Amino acid sequence: MPFNVSAGPLSSSSACPLCEAECPRRRIASVAYRDVWEALATQWEVRVPEEVARRLTPAPESSLLACGACGLHYFSPALPGDGDYYAALAASPRYYSPTKWEFDRVSDQLAPGDAVLDVGCGAGDFLAAVAPHVRRAVGVETSATAVAAARGRGLDVELGSPEVFARRREGEFDAVCLFHVAEHLPDVLPLLRAAVRCLRPRGTLYVSVPNRRRICRGALESLDCPPHHLSRWAPRQFAWLAGALGMRLVRLACEPADPAMLRDWLPRRLAARLEKIPWAGAALGWLSTRILDRTVFHRRLLPAYRKTRFFDRLGFRGMSMLAAYVRAPARGGGR
Ligand SMILES: [Zn+2]
Repeated sequence: MPFNVSAGPLSSSSACPLCEAECPRRRIASVAYRDVWEALATQWEVRVPEEVARRLTPAPESSLLACGACGLHYFSPALPGDGDYYAALAASPRYYSPTKWEFDRVSDQLAPGDAVLDVGCGAGDFLAAVAPHVRRAVGVETSATAVAAARGRGLDVELGSPEVFARRREGEFDAVCLFHVAEHLPDVLPLLRAAVRCLRPRGTLYVSVPNRRRICRGALESLDCPPHHLSRWAPRQFAWLAGALGMRLVRLACEPADPAMLRDWLPRRLAARLEKIPWAGAALGWLSTRILDRTVFHRRLLPAYRKTRFFDRLGFRGMSMLAAYVRAPARGGGR
């Protein structure tokens, strides 16, 4: 079992990446870096060069801690991925998806006259989707490879730190987006504050992160561990962030769980539990999968589940959460 669950007090000291509090904290689990590197190769076909893995391994194990102040779960010790690490990820045929659920959610809120900034825009997938429909779409990104790819698509993307960018472009944008950026940061607030500085007085800040309460999760998800993800978020952290940024949280949406993914995942999980029963376990596991496949998870029911948001109503969540913040007073309709 690669993910070792243990609890107890912690002697080493490290601050929470979100609220910067030193204590109290609670240890939820620990993960061995050796297992993370191995799982990256087997789950995602990511081959991280040995010297890069060594450089990004600060200790044999990292503890997953729950911050007593803001509730964030974060890894310690942990180092963020560097350019060499992300070059290895980018070379994987399985790592990257060019679309995200929140792209459409934000895109629907934009007006033709808006200037939009995507912080940590990567190769510009969101910008490419919205650029034809808004007045201006701009990105800022620290990876030179990603910036070259974005510029190759004709996108307006700057290479460099968002903090430096914000000093020159204060108050220019109607919408500033950070999609799946915060969970990579060892220190969240400086970047978020820079993003807020880029907003017009009535602008909207959009922040999305993976939802740690999503339903389909593996025992060890190598991309949800350091050096890729340094923290894991729940809705409470978005409320905390509003106070820290001096903004008003006007919307918080969770991506619904995909019924097709649940169809694949829930019967397997039930079967794995049944298989632990002595003697009859294997047969019960097989039988439960067959029954679910022909009843609750019949392929023909999937469109109805999507339409009625059946599993969403039961509280089954998908990958992302998206928050929208404004400065008071809110722009018409709280966009
Ligand atoms: Zn905290």
